[in-house]
Amino acid sequence: MSTLDTITHYINGVAVDTQSGRYADVFNPALGQPVARVALGTTDEVDAAVRAAEAAFPAWSSTPPLTRARVLFKYLQLCQQHTDEFAAMLTREHGKTFADAQGEVARGIEMVEFAVGIPQMLKGEFTDQISRGIDAWSMRQALGVVAGITPFNFPVMVPMWMFPVAIACGNTFVLKPSERDPSPSLLHARLLKEAGLPDGVFNVIQGDKVTVDALLDHPVVQAVSFVGSTPIAEYIYARGSASGKRVQALGGAKNHMVVMPDADMEMTVDALMGAAYGSAGERCMAISVVVAVGDAGDKIVDALAKRTAALKVRDGMAADAEMGPVVSSAAKQRIERLISEGVEQGAKLVVDGRNYVVPGRENGFFVGGTLFDHVTPDMTIYKEEIFGPVLCMLRAPDVGTAVALINRNEYGNGVAIYTRDGGVAREFVRQIQVGMVGVNVPLPVPMAFNSFGGWKRSLFGDHHAYGPEGVRFYTRHKAVMQRWPNTASAGAEFAFPQMK
Ligand code: NAD
Repeated sequence: MSTLDTITHYINGVAVDTQSGRYADVFNPALGQPVARVALGTTDEVDAAVRAAEAAFPAWSSTPPLTRARVLFKYLQLCQQHTDEFAAMLTREHGKTFADAQGEVARGIEMVEFAVGIPQMLKGEFTDQISRGIDAWSMRQALGVVAGITPFNFPVMVPMWMFPVAIACGNTFVLKPSERDPSPSLLHARLLKEAGLPDGVFNVIQGDKVTVDALLDHPVVQAVSFVGSTPIAEYIYARGSASGKRVQALGGAKNHMVVMPDADMEMTVDALMGAAYGSAGERCMAISVVVAVGDAGDKIVDALAKRTAALKVRDGMAADAEMGPVVSSAAKQRIERLISEGVEQGAKLVVDGRNYVVPGRENGFFVGGTLFDHVTPDMTIYKEEIFGPVLCMLRAPDVGTAVALINRNEYGNGVAIYTRDGGVAREFVRQIQVGMVGVNVPLPVPMAFNSFGGWKRSLFGDHHAYGPEGVRFYTRHKAVMQRWPNTASAGAEFAFPQMK
């Protein structure tokens, strides 16, 4: 019997342990030690969560949107009060710095601020007298039970990309969080209950592939939102849509920043430091590639090298930490292996973050900031998503070559350009095959009222996440034509109806 706290499911308003006998350790990556264990659920437990959500759906979907919004309003206030509790959980189980964790919570709260406007967003359209004596109108209705499957890197915010809008629209929800940092899912559940959300509207099922597959195959689940790596996103999309579900599956990334020779170099280096090494590079919008145009590379490489080597890598709770550990021992080994491959394949290793030791945290999963120069597109470090604190610099003779390189990349999540030339920036925005573009903005993560999503193999499905696209994803459009006859019957018509 483990002495570690058990992180359980949450079904129909109560915490429930698994009957599977299977658990996974949850680590504090800064210590390199387990701090809890998480239940790994069964197909039957998924069924129980889905059935609870199914039972809650008729009453919740018939609740006036303003009443639903008021529950979310209360939840919003509770999230604000509990920001530091969420943030401490994040640092403990994910490793990111406490300040970065507070930022994650703030960006999640934004999603609730959007969702409380749901009465306005659910308004339909109306056309008077679309034909003689007939009016036409449209409405959007909730789908039913919807599921969210989320990654380790934003365990507070990414679930909030999904459930606030989903339940505001009148759906009921089953969340399957990452098994690496599952605690915030239960704090969400507790605060939603305290806010007055009826039992069964929000449920959590902990686990791994077994629970994911059970959700994908469950006939009652109407839609699945997924965020995670590209191979799993593709699998989720294929399996979920094969069983008739609506699926949005957001995948991995390789985000480039193009630096033009006319850019403000100080501002560019500042932006690169935060965008490449913030959260130890474990952000789907992290900049992992710099494409330096002309002599821009020579202008920034020394400053980048100095600052990368001087990064304050610490336990995320340390007040001066700029970067924490990576999430797991396996992630550390994988990142270090990729760095070694970069060296073997001929890239110039300017700053080496392998074998990084933080005094007092010798067992932590730390990787130091790493900088490569003269990387080429055929190298593994360019082709693979490293998802660690590794920045690769490529050189391009002109902006056209940089755009062509980025457009050939299999991913299309985020991109940025740093320049003082408005014409170059405008043409870049128009030509680039990427879903989210920053002009002198390194991490162009849309706010809650604009939707989030990449192109190419960074997103499978049609709708982007949250914002207006989220409302469309979690509702179905219904078109109604109505006539209230006040004349005698004109008899049946067998020809296809036309406007009269
Ligand atoms: P992951 O794909 O390993 O896991 C995501 C979820 O899928 C987890 O809940 C996990 O339990 C589940 N899962 C894992 N393997 C599975 C399998 N074989 N079958 C069924 N389910 C499975 O991703 P991760 O390592 O937790 O997160 C990092 C990845 O997420 C990176 O690739 C990152 O770019 C991506 N990401 C993308 C976005 C985006 O918006 N595009 C946002 C955040 C993270």
